[in-house]
Amino acid sequence: MATSGLGIGVASDRLNELLELVARDNPFQRNRLAALDLGAAPALADLPPLTKLELVHDQERNPPFGTNLTYPLERYTQMHQTSGTTGPPLRVLDTADDWTWWRERFAHTLSVAGVGPGDKVTLAYSFGPHIQFWAAKEGLEEVGAMAVALGGMGSSQRLQTIDELGATAIWCTPTYALRLLEVAVEQRLESALDSVDRILCTGEPGASLPAVRARIEEGFGARCFDHAGLTEAGPFGYPCSEGHGLHVDESEFVCEIVDEELRPTPQNERGELVITPLRRTGFPVLRYRTGDVVVNTEERCPADHPDRWLPGGIVGRTDDMVVIRGMNVYPSAIEEAVRHASGSGEFRITFYSEPSGMDEIKLEVELGDGKAARELQEMMRKQLGLRVRVVPVTPGVLPRPDGKARRVVDERPAKWSGS
Ligand SMILES: [Zn+2]
Repeated sequence: MATSGLGIGVASDRLNELLELVARDNPFQRNRLAALDLGAAPALADLPPLTKLELVHDQERNPPFGTNLTYPLERYTQMHQTSGTTGPPLRVLDTADDWTWWRERFAHTLSVAGVGPGDKVTLAYSFGPHIQFWAAKEGLEEVGAMAVALGGMGSSQRLQTIDELGATAIWCTPTYALRLLEVAVEQRLESALDSVDRILCTGEPGASLPAVRARIEEGFGARCFDHAGLTEAGPFGYPCSEGHGLHVDESEFVCEIVDEELRPTPQNERGELVITPLRRTGFPVLRYRTGDVVVNTEERCPADHPDRWLPGGIVGRTDDMVVIRGMNVYPSAIEEAVRHASGSGEFRITFYSEPSGMDEIKLEVELGDGKAARELQEMMRKQLGLRVRVVPVTPGVLPRPDGKARRVVDERPAKWSGS
């Protein structure tokens, strides 16, 4: 377990209080602890990491909210749900106190990014059941900035609104930031973005990929900030005010990085982030498997901030990872290479099997010429050790995502898996 930015004493007091509370008052956690037979005072490390699927199954057995509730239902004031893109959606409840915690954590992220009174922050998405949208609005109110919803608008209308209002920041996915930039250039509306000095990114790894971040920062002439969170586990990652990447909010979360066998990940290797929010008690998750892949490093951020630093942010999702010819392949690593190639546009990755049974990767990418395709192919071979068939396509032909990108197609036949 990582040491906490809070000091081990305070964090462990909070943790012990949380464990006692849930063992006493939360039926889901109580049953789980009883089944594990860990004795009267289990330590966090005694608990097996919790998956989203366990919570989903509990909710299916006990509709509509499941049993992971520490308080009577009337104490809860907010309901959100996970997107369900990687399985059935999960409903997550918050009490008024827990919701205040979300508000404060988002305000913290915004303060670190330098957003405050006088800022006009445009939210370039439609508000859905995912917690992120609503917590963002709360956080903006907390820091005294103006929240401007741009849901239900097309990109040119958004650009026009940003221009007319003199918006100072845009909150969106990194994919959409690049899309908006493309529309601004196509429609010669680049000057609409002059007032914008901050891009707040979320929802995808992109904002911490150096080449994606560089494109956003150069294109907008603005700083790009990343942050990360999950409806079911809280906003655990905030940007570094001085550098790139993410900090894990260790005053609020116990953070661990584990390998596929759930053992601590060695230094400088990739592993899954497992977190325990210490103060969200209404819907507690202990040792929650985020599915977010990060690199375990002791590297300090440029400002030597105490919280653990993830220089590369979230580098992928465990469920995005594909094993090709025995190698772990993350689509985000391919994206990083594509964004490095000059003049590259939208792209699509297809995993497929040759008749011989050999798995292959096809990368369709909008490129100016065949020479760029050969260079990209060579770059991926050298940097990622991957053999990728690069297919240049005409700029503008691939679909333009308006939010989170869906750029991966897996055409391989389902295989028996021993796990
Ligand atoms: Zn820092």
